[in-house]
Amino acid sequence: MNQVNSEKLIFLRPGFYHSVWGGTKLRTMFGYDEPGDDVGECWGISAHPKHDCVAISGSFAGMKLSELWRDHRELFGDAPGEVFPLLTKIISAQSDLSIQVHPDDDYASDHETGTLGKTECWYVLDADPGSSLIAGHNAKTRAELCEMIDNGRWDELIRHIDITPGDFIQIDPGTVHAICGGVTLLETQENSDITYRIYDYDRLVDGKLRELHLQQAKDVITVPSPDISGLVIHDDSADDVFKLISCKEYEVYRICCRDGLGVEFERPFMLMSVVDGSGAVDGCEVKKGDHFIVPYGYGLMSLTGDMKIIASCLPA
Ligand code: ZN
Repeated sequence: MNQVNSEKLIFLRPGFYHSVWGGTKLRTMFGYDEPGDDVGECWGISAHPKHDCVAISGSFAGMKLSELWRDHRELFGDAPGEVFPLLTKIISAQSDLSIQVHPDDDYASDHETGTLGKTECWYVLDADPGSSLIAGHNAKTRAELCEMIDNGRWDELIRHIDITPGDFIQIDPGTVHAICGGVTLLETQENSDITYRIYDYDRLVDGKLRELHLQQAKDVITVPSPDISGLVIHDDSADDVFKLISCKEYEVYRICCRDGLGVEFERPFMLMSVVDGSGAVDGCEVKKGDHFIVPYGYGLMSLTGDMKIIASCLPA
């Protein structure tokens, strides 16, 4: 057991967001000490200005992730980039999130100042029976898309897909999508908060309708919608380490430790979130809801206990 090595792990303090569609599962299922019955999001690994996680372990305790990225790039294998590239959240929806779409990096750099576009992916952690997600749409042409949006034909436009825990879905920029009520998932995404909202169920939030971004959405939605069923992976693999996706923005893995496991990733750094169970990393105890970064040069990692981890990194 290599207890000294585990002192290099950078554990982070998550940030929480309350929302009209939030609930209580982030507290009851994940043990986060966050009051309220409208808790929607846990930003577990984030250097975004909206929530810049503070390190709570090791020699960098007290520093923000954006500061580690700026001043200690050696921790990340000198990976390039102005801003820390990835963001990990757990999202728990009691009711439906707004239907939305994100731009790609090119559209974002032309139309939004100083931000990345947003590619994201979801690993479903918990889902009430009969739950679904929205991914894709049914318009055949851009003219038909615009007509359906302008006339509020949402039921005809949007495409629901049935999901169960263990399902993984990639949401490329331009994909109409929404998380529906009853679903808790881990989202891995580019470090961006650019969202074009197209429909919010006419809900009032603090007495007002939330802003919609219909023109931007009409610009960026991919038409026709790619067949999303090809992008859904059901994680029924018996492998201890299962690669869920590799795209140009990130790679995502599901790791299951049943009684003991050695893992080593040939990547500059890894983001890890314990999403079920508990155990230890090189003797350092971890449990469901913990988020940490494995820095450059960590080497072989020895996992013990009974737990599931979602890990992500930059692609090779
Ligand atoms: Zn999204």
